[in-house]
Amino acid sequence: MATLGNPQNTIAVLKKYNFNFQKKFGQNFLIDTHVLEKIISAANVGEEDFVLEIGPGIGTMTQYLCEHGREVAAVEIDKNLIPILEDTLSAYANVQIIHQDILKMDINRLVHEKNQGKPIKVVANLPYYITTPIIMGLFESHVPIESITIMVQKEVADRMQVGPGTKDYGALSLAVQYYAKPEIVANVPPNCFMPRPKVGSAVIRLTRHQQAPVKVMQERQMFALIRASFNQRRKTLVNGLNNAADISYSKEQVVQALEKMGLPANVRGETLTLEQFARLSNLLGGG
Ligand code: SAM
Repeated sequence: MATLGNPQNTIAVLKKYNFNFQKKFGQNFLIDTHVLEKIISAANVGEEDFVLEIGPGIGTMTQYLCEHGREVAAVEIDKNLIPILEDTLSAYANVQIIHQDILKMDINRLVHEKNQGKPIKVVANLPYYITTPIIMGLFESHVPIESITIMVQKEVADRMQVGPGTKDYGALSLAVQYYAKPEIVANVPPNCFMPRPKVGSAVIRLTRHQQAPVKVMQERQMFALIRASFNQRRKTLVNGLNNAADISYSKEQVVQALEKMGLPANVRGETLTLEQFARLSNLLGGG
């Protein structure tokens, strides 16, 4: 089987199987070998590694992962792609093709069965319609992960990287930075895909922190505070928390906690750092 990164070979496979792209699955296949090489080198996949690929498509990147890694699990939702993957990956004995919705899969179990529970690498050109639930699902379910190297919408990559004081700063920035160190490793224009997406893309690597960068007693509560603050961006933090159904502190309690932190009662959530959200959560939680 010829390398699929080359557009002619991709077209040949699509024709052979009479494949129709499904918009609802966010299907934009990579057709640029330079970008593929960049992803593989950023992910630093080596012969010891177990790699989870989310959404292999016709197996373009999967071939590279099989060449470099020890073992690959490729999880694909579209049943029409399964026979294609069996064909394009037939030369590799180190790949398992799994027909599943990644959001419904027990990834912890897979890691325990296939990698003795040791941290894995995740590599993917993600379906953009579910980027955030996939990333948050991986972090929040505490799957043992070393790094996640993914293609996402450029704007989403920017959001993961920024700090307070920028318009892109939000709940996703804080969640990603709590769990990992984000680094954009490449910007990728629409012409590197078939069909071309309407937006620009970027490859971002999230390296899991060995230890969380802040100490927080109740992780869940801190994320509830963060979500409530950004749900109503234009409101003050005190009013934002007061309006949130899952937060039961009174305005006075919040103002008092802010005072202890040296922050004014009319501060907006979008100006707080991760450290400040952790401190606020700890103060409210009695710590
Ligand atoms: N990796 C391929 C490539 O780079 O050419 C395809 C990338 S395409 C952007 C996203 C892939 O994810 C598609 O193959 C799509 O069918 C698959 N997909 C979409 N939703 C999924 C889900 N919930 N679980 C698993 N795969 C999914």
